[in-house]
Amino acid sequence: MKKEMAEKPLVLELRLIQGLVVKVAEPLARYTSIKIGGPADYFLDVESNAVLAMTIHTLNRYGIQFSLLGKGSNVLVSDLGVRGAVLRLRGKFNEIEWGEELGQAWVRVGAAYPVTRLVREAVGRGYSGLEFAEGIPGSVGGALIMNAGAYGSEMEKVVDRVEGVTREGESVKFFREELTFSYRHACLPSGIIVTRVRLRLGKGEVGQMRLNVRGLVDRRKKSQPSGYPNSGSMFRNPPGDFAGRLIEAAGLKGTRVGNAEVSDRHANFIVNLGGAKGEDVRRLMVIVGAEVQKKFGVQLESEVQLLGEWSDRAVKG
Ligand SMILES: Cc1cc2nc3c(=O)[nH]c(=O)nc-3n(C[C@H](O)[C@H](O)[C@H](O)COP(=O)(O)OP(=O)(O)OC[C@H]3O[C@@H](n4cnc5c(N)ncnc54)[C@H](O)[C@@H]3O)c2cc1C
Repeated sequence: MKKEMAEKPLVLELRLIQGLVVKVAEPLARYTSIKIGGPADYFLDVESNAVLAMTIHTLNRYGIQFSLLGKGSNVLVSDLGVRGAVLRLRGKFNEIEWGEELGQAWVRVGAAYPVTRLVREAVGRGYSGLEFAEGIPGSVGGALIMNAGAYGSEMEKVVDRVEGVTREGESVKFFREELTFSYRHACLPSGIIVTRVRLRLGKGEVGQMRLNVRGLVDRRKKSQPSGYPNSGSMFRNPPGDFAGRLIEAAGLKGTRVGNAEVSDRHANFIVNLGGAKGEDVRRLMVIVGAEVQKKFGVQLESEVQLLGEWSDRAVKG
């Protein structure tokens, strides 16, 4: 199957794009934090804006759909994999630039940049506002799209400008006043690929910020599972409550399907005990959702993004 696909004209054409790494029938488990996921028909590592535009034009010409993968820390990929192409940003999308303007600190950072590295660098420079994000294992692009947040803050509070590329390969830019966010969601035109983000930061005392960050790391260590792969919070917190509290109160900690288990440490995490399937996690999510609905009348919505082909859509949030 791999060989047949590799001979397709699409693949030959993609391979001619310099700065694009093309993999065919590439298993995605290794690219997701929960270590689950079947093959993408085409897995494309994209090095720059120009390469991204060329890649999108080529895929569109062949009518091939595509999805984005950041660091894979908030996705659940189907065991059947993903039809079409999965794009990952690399190379120039890892560039970062710092500055100050009229006493205001800013950073312009590529979408592939790891959030935790960004936080540490900002703190080291005495720039504040990102400490909340220490320990979020995503990329800047993923964090922006998900409006990632923790401990009372979120990306919305620091975003100044977003650069991206449309599904047609056109570059677009959004200024702060054009952007709206909601809980774990950036309201951007559907399907936009975030390529670079400019953040506005404050100033703080390095030693104190380091202490604050360390405090948050300790809180994470105490409250979140470690040692087993996972995708972070599986469900969005319903208004005025916490998904984890409801799941725990429903007595679901430790519930298992195959090798997927509701974490004993934090009930809103599902951990992969080893070799769990996407279908196990998905079924466990259905069980958890149904039980919480039955006991508390609350309908939980998936926070984790489902990617790929699923046999039914019962848990799509
Ligand atoms: C242990 C653990 C702890 C976590 N803690 C937190 C937390 O405290 N707060 C929190 O909010 N989240 C948390 N998460 C979830 C996750 O880390 C964040 O949502 C993160 O921002 C996702 O980034 P990513 O690069 O991994 O995105 P992915 O998981 O790869 O993708 C998530 C979504 O964003 C889209 N996407 C990714 N990159 C781009 C891009 N450049 N352009 C357009 N779309 C894109 C994908 O298509 C997908 O729909 C945690 C996860 C884990 C595993």
